[in-house]
Amino acid sequence: MNEKYYAAYLNNEEQLKLSSSGGMAYAISEQIILSGGVVFGIRYSNDFFCAKYVKIDNLENLSLLNGSKYITTEKVIDGVGVFKSVYNVLLNQRKVLFIGTPCDIGNLISFLKKNKCQDFDKLVTLDFICQGPIKAKVQKEYIQFLEHKYNSTLVDFSVRYKHPYWKPVYLRAVFSNGKEHIKPLYSTDFGRAFRIYGTERCYKCKYKDANHCSDITLGDFWGLLPEDKGYNRYGTSVLVTHTDKGEKVLNRLSNVMIFEYDKEKAVGNNPMYYESRKRNEKFYKFEKIYSYKGLHKAVFCTRNFPSKIKYLLNLFLGKRPY
Ligand SMILES: Cc1cc2nc3c(=O)[nH]c(=O)nc-3n(C[C@H](O)[C@H](O)[C@H](O)COP(=O)(O)OP(=O)(O)OC[C@H]3O[C@@H](n4cnc5c(N)ncnc54)[C@H](O)[C@@H]3O)c2cc1C
Ligand code: SF4
Repeated sequence: MNEKYYAAYLNNEEQLKLSSSGGMAYAISEQIILSGGVVFGIRYSNDFFCAKYVKIDNLENLSLLNGSKYITTEKVIDGVGVFKSVYNVLLNQRKVLFIGTPCDIGNLISFLKKNKCQDFDKLVTLDFICQGPIKAKVQKEYIQFLEHKYNSTLVDFSVRYKHPYWKPVYLRAVFSNGKEHIKPLYSTDFGRAFRIYGTERCYKCKYKDANHCSDITLGDFWGLLPEDKGYNRYGTSVLVTHTDKGEKVLNRLSNVMIFEYDKEKAVGNNPMYYESRKRNEKFYKFEKIYSYKGLHKAVFCTRNFPSKIKYLLNLFLGKRPY
């Protein structure tokens, strides 16, 4: 079938605020669980240093998947590779929703074909428009720095915090002593590193445009204006169905608002749908400094002159951005 393009959001404001864009990953996951299926997605570890696949079959644990984790992920669940875990669930004739990067979906499908899986009809795959993650150790270093600064343990972390709305994007860290660190994402060391220091394979990603292997692709509906149909100030997803199965999943959803758009309006403002990220001109300098002086020095040294002055001025005034 030909791809179809939509603006969509979850009709549950509380849950929508906890999602990165329009909460459609939650809406689809909820529907799969209510129909007796199992969802594979990404959660943070308890210390937020890393992100890993988890298998969920009840609504109580679904909140673990909330929000984008902008870091590389571990693909093992209880000592078993995640693709093998999916295979085992399908073998038991249960429905599976697998949510992952477009390359994880491509690799899952190759794995299942190689192992002669007969149950593809039970599998729904959901990926997102992807510029690629940053190495998990960058997040670990950033969190350790914040924990030292706030002299407290991190208890919650989001790189897509709605403060209070979907745009602009904020980073939020919450500590056990009740303190909060809330900053525009791209003003923080973590956000700056995310922009500059991509993962090598993502500069030549083959899972773009019609090469997505998933049933459904989600992303942020950038470029949608408040007067456009489907706009929600708490977040609107762009949703692309690539298969009939994806369309069927969409048609079964309740508690969502969905509006069809043409391709140009839907993904025209989202270059990562079509093409791989370009290597930032500061990548090699960042990498070199990061490897022997760490995150904070690498970020500072790759600032341009006005940004360095602004940073030092803020430091002098006691306002530490980080
Ligand atoms: C590394 C990364 C880069 C992205 N780049 C873009 C982009 O350039 N343009 C764009 O429009 N959208 C991008 N997105 C997607 C966007 O941030 C939202 O995740 C998407 O719009 C879905 O939002 P939601 O509100 O439906 O769900 P959310 O509540 O955000 O749920 C996200 C789902 O994605 C899964 N997930 C979270 N982190 C990861 C991860 N690291 N690897 C695999 N699965 C994960 C979770 O299991 C969860 O089910 C990116 C996401 C990630 C993780
Ligand atoms: S950009 Fe491509 S290669 Fe990188 S994580 Fe996303 S899908 Fe995988």
